[in-house]
Amino acid sequence: MSRPPRRDCAAATAAPSQYDIDCRRCTRLAAFVDDVHEANPSYFCRPVPPFGDGAARLVIVGLAPGMHGANASGRPFTGDHAGILLYATLFKFGFSTRATSSGADDGLRLLGARITNAVKCLPPGNKPLPDEIRNCNSYLSAELASLPDGAAILALGRVAHDAALRALGLVGRDYPFSHGSQHALNRGAHLFDSYHCSRYNTNTRRLTTEMFESVFASIARHLDDGACRAV
Ligand code: SF4
Repeated sequence: MSRPPRRDCAAATAAPSQYDIDCRRCTRLAAFVDDVHEANPSYFCRPVPPFGDGAARLVIVGLAPGMHGANASGRPFTGDHAGILLYATLFKFGFSTRATSSGADDGLRLLGARITNAVKCLPPGNKPLPDEIRNCNSYLSAELASLPDGAAILALGRVAHDAALRALGLVGRDYPFSHGSQHALNRGAHLFDSYHCSRYNTNTRRLTTEMFESVFASIARHLDDGACRAV
């Protein structure tokens, strides 16, 4: 099966150890992305790079690209419902130059923040397998290792929470996931948990705007307390 042409994302900020646009470690995902590209030739259909500030103090970890969102646009949380609340909240708290992300070339910049995913390739049914999460964890580990002291990591959902802990070499049972919780890590960093801002969670009001903004308020307090918020 032919591979789609290489298309670098201009918004990528990751170092080589944090991202490889040609990675095909997960054969199931690589084959699935190839198939989706055949049906949608204009889609990005590659491992989706982290997006944002290379000197970020806040890293947001999602699950994986959505088929018609990040997998299509090449920017995390861009092109489908999941990004609506996320980008609006980033803007409200001063982490973004705009409240909406409409495409990888829309000029939006993140300020002191970066968005990435636990799994960088589109999984069938939005459900990566455990082996695929493990395969991709080295990229997340390199990315989190580059964070400065006093940083904040926001995990969107349990899979992202567990992947972030694994990437940091920490044991999940010592840091149980629950929405709104805040875990002290090494070097003054904190891990914040939120339900994922998916269409399902927001439509059912499992995650409301108020709940999400409350998590961001805690993050802003943590970064401000450490006098390390880069804006
Ligand atoms: S999910 Fe990660 S490890 Fe797997 S093929 Fe994509 S970039 Fe590589």
